[in-house]
Amino acid sequence: MSNIINVNSNSNQYNVCIIGGGITGTALAYFLCKLGERSVAVFEKSYLSSGSTGRCAGGIRQQWSTRSNVRLAMRSVKLFERFKEDVGMDIEYFQGGYLVLSYDEEEAAQFEKNVQMQKEEGLNVEILSPRQVKEKYPYINTDGLLMATFCQTDGHANPHKAVIGYAQAIRRMGGHIYTHTEVKGIDVQAGKVIGVDTSNGYFKCNVVVNAAGPWSRETSEMVGVDLPTESYRHQIIVTEALENFFPMMAISFSGNFYMRQTQHGQFVLGQGDKDEKPGINYNVTFRFEEELISKMVRTFPFLKNVRMMRHWSGMYNMSPDAQPIIGQSDKVKGYYYAVGYSGHGFMVAPAVGEALAELILFGKSLHTDISYLDVKRFENMTIEKEKNVV
Ligand SMILES: Cc1cc2nc3c(=O)[nH]c(=O)nc-3n(C[C@H](O)[C@H](O)[C@H](O)COP(=O)(O)OP(=O)(O)OC[C@H]3O[C@@H](n4cnc5c(N)ncnc54)[C@H](O)[C@@H]3O)c2cc1C
Repeated sequence: MSNIINVNSNSNQYNVCIIGGGITGTALAYFLCKLGERSVAVFEKSYLSSGSTGRCAGGIRQQWSTRSNVRLAMRSVKLFERFKEDVGMDIEYFQGGYLVLSYDEEEAAQFEKNVQMQKEEGLNVEILSPRQVKEKYPYINTDGLLMATFCQTDGHANPHKAVIGYAQAIRRMGGHIYTHTEVKGIDVQAGKVIGVDTSNGYFKCNVVVNAAGPWSRETSEMVGVDLPTESYRHQIIVTEALENFFPMMAISFSGNFYMRQTQHGQFVLGQGDKDEKPGINYNVTFRFEEELISKMVRTFPFLKNVRMMRHWSGMYNMSPDAQPIIGQSDKVKGYYYAVGYSGHGFMVAPAVGEALAELILFGKSLHTDISYLDVKRFENMTIEKEKNVV
């Protein structure tokens, strides 16, 4: 039984209007259409995947420190595994595993607990000693390494292709996508969403979803709902292509880095910067190149003579506990949000899209519990912070 009134789609009226043409907006529109709700429009102010999605590393990981995140990520992996068959696009999805390296005693002790919890959830994850890491990956310098965890079913994919795949499927099923169309305002009357005002005209609707990524807070201000997110710049480097030999994503929270090799052979690598100030900033810095490259050449000596080809930046939309904020407003009827992913929105987007589509259409999510991600959790002072974030 649908929660929303059925209207016939025409050029200025939809049941669901989604703000943002990144992985969240397109995954959600795809699942709405798949569940039979075809009166759906996605509004993207620039081109599809122009936000964080098209700037991300494409890593897909299930090794999280909280049980709920492990469940959400495991559901997402099930959906990524079927992406080509279900959505109809090869997104270079590759389950080469995630090798999580620890250089810190407290973190290593926490990893032991995480692995136990992850195994209870049915995840096939193992602990590796520095010697085992060296045997498995002789091209990694293990100096200072205390331990690692490894999960073979983790992996990576091409984020642009994922968005394009969803977009093509949405259009095939009868949904609409408006690129270069900015949502300027959300029309609310008597506490209920009734339309959106865009750079291409006014559209009536019953439901609006904020999937605006780095612009999530400003977008929410359009309906007077405060979402406690802030956007921080994250830079990323891509090298020239080498023959493929590095199957996994290597990541370290204590070492502050991540790196993977794409299907085309390039290495994609990045780190976080604790001195970064909040705000949209797409500039890049030499300091980032110097710091990251000298660190990475120490751990991955084969990078020494590899040329850097590109360097760009994107935004992490952060929440106070480094977990996404997903749910529906109890102040404005028909207003939903899926924001604040804190640097891991690509990997969970299929499961989030599915769960949010179910919540919009049926009043509750059926495949994965996302109720713990509602903004109301910040009213409770004992929030659990996700620790496994770079
Ligand atoms: C360097 C870097 C590396 C990352 N690596 C990973 C990784 O390995 N794995 C992972 O899972 N995640 C990673 N992330 C995080 C990931 O990119 C994001 O969490 C995810 O892409 C969020 O998707 P989204 O669709 O919610 O937001 P976005 O992709 O940012 O999409 C939001 C869209 O909304 C549009 N928009 C905003 N306001 C309006 C408006 N008013 N009207 C119309 N359109 C609007 C924007 O133009 C934008 O395209 C990384 C991020 C960065 C920056």
